[in-house]
Amino acid sequence: MSSIDHDDWQARYRADLVSTFATPSLLLHHGQGAWVWDTDGNKYLDFVGGIAVNSLGHAHPVLIEAVTRQVSLAAHISNLFASEPQLELAERLKRLTGAGEDGRAFFANSGTEANEAAFKLARLNRGDDGRKVRIVSLVNGFHGRTMGALALTGKDYMRAPFEPMVAGVEYIHATLEELEAVIDDTVAAIFVEPLQGEAGVIELPDGFFTRARELTQRHGALLIVDEVQTGAGRTGDWFGFQHEGIVPDAITLAKGMAGGVPIGALITFGRASQLFTQGQHGTTFGGNPLAAAAANAVLGEIEASDLVGNARERGEQLKAAIAGLDSPLISGTRGRGLLIGIALTEPVAEQLVTEARAHGLIINATGADSIRLAPPLVIGDIEVDEFRTRFAATLAGAEARFASEPD
Ligand code: PLP
Repeated sequence: MSSIDHDDWQARYRADLVSTFATPSLLLHHGQGAWVWDTDGNKYLDFVGGIAVNSLGHAHPVLIEAVTRQVSLAAHISNLFASEPQLELAERLKRLTGAGEDGRAFFANSGTEANEAAFKLARLNRGDDGRKVRIVSLVNGFHGRTMGALALTGKDYMRAPFEPMVAGVEYIHATLEELEAVIDDTVAAIFVEPLQGEAGVIELPDGFFTRARELTQRHGALLIVDEVQTGAGRTGDWFGFQHEGIVPDAITLAKGMAGGVPIGALITFGRASQLFTQGQHGTTFGGNPLAAAAANAVLGEIEASDLVGNARERGEQLKAAIAGLDSPLISGTRGRGLLIGIALTEPVAEQLVTEARAHGLIINATGADSIRLAPPLVIGDIEVDEFRTRFAATLAGAEARFASEPD
């Protein structure tokens, strides 16, 4: 029997879990595909997908089978030993990313941790000439909340209370316009997301990656692409950097690669693969056989069922559906594949999230005037239609409410 007090769980959620979110939560019980149920039996269309994590949806048989099988063999072995799922995953990721034979895979348990590993890699790239290490990332970018990853994160309100964060490193948060001017021979690396997910699914201008690659190569800086939110098929390419066909020095992965089982990875390309020497990086849980088996199953299913192509196609359908609703609250959509930002004409994102729940739809606010959709890559016609119906009702409900409420 559950020990949860169902009359009081919202208060307990805030008190016990130190929730920092403003909107009331849901007490979710289970899911199936793109659908979730709360403990009262209410059913919702889940278009957040664990924030781009549940790539195969909930309770996918391939994931259940892989995890069940592996836990009965060995869940954990530490990094003193190798396991078949780990080796298979490293090979798979090197093939899918194009890192190939010169590439290496360093496993972690989350996106933040993968970025911490990449941060260390950047330091090693300029570590020995006595000069201060400079690392560049983009304003509004998000890379995690530990001290190193937070130092890269380009959101002042998150960083300010914790400054100064990393001694010996100058971290520079540049706007797109400033980027060219700040990269010189003292820069160790630039960190960039292919689409800025937490910032509201913000696209970078066409040609950005090509130019960033030229500049970093010229100045000996690493180009590190944070694919934590965009990787594993989410944007309609296997990885966001492939959209422009460049070869980075490293990418970081997590979220969707194991469909909900925690894992992260730093994949290095070419010369960057030789920067860590023996003992400079390691982990107890990172890439454990259970998580690695889950990732192999998820990535294998994405490949076998062409869910990358599905993400592309369904993403276009969803954008067309949103445009077709012709709501005065919506000014447009952004993003690629199944990472979609909806730009609002008013700062009403939180109200829309709450209204959507009343219509059995889970969506996510990324700022006051922006909604994010990141549904599982397995969605089909039914889910697209259900989204259209439920989102139309959400907008109609919100419009009616705003019209009847005094300013
Ligand atoms: N990098 C990006 C681009 C992210 O979107 C996130 C999480 O939202 C992270 C890093 C942090 O990943 P995690 O929450 O798995 O530590």
